[in-house]
Amino acid sequence: MTSPLQRQGLKQTPARIAVLSILQEQNRPMDVAEILELVRSEGIETNQATVYRILDIFCEKGMVNRFEFHEGKFRYELAGADHHHLLCESCGRIEDLSDCNIPDWEVEITRKKGFLVKRHSLEFFGLCQNCQR
Ligand SMILES: [Zn+2]
Ligand SMILES: [Zn+2]
Repeated sequence: MTSPLQRQGLKQTPARIAVLSILQEQNRPMDVAEILELVRSEGIETNQATVYRILDIFCEKGMVNRFEFHEGKFRYELAGADHHHLLCESCGRIEDLSDCNIPDWEVEITRKKGFLVKRHSLEFFGLCQNCQR
């Protein structure tokens, strides 16, 4: 069986394998510091610059999506089904919103404006259930 790295023509380095498996296991948008800590906890020698580089390559290859939630840092998540995030501005919790109705809207935009939409980005900011109590 070929790994996702091989499929993308990427050499399988221990750090790349670790970053990919961490993103798979955690299945949430993570920042570089969190990813770096987990890579190191697997006993792999690496640094922040290397993790950034790995994430950049994964983003370029479309394996990972990069998000900016106005926290002054990026978060990274394994690319998958089109979904969006709900961010709690009080506790920082990030929830997935599983369905996306925007593709219909994209068709509408193209029809009305003659603009060819290739992608979209949308996040919701507010208060989670706990923080509303
Ligand atoms: Zn909250
Ligand atoms: Zn969407």
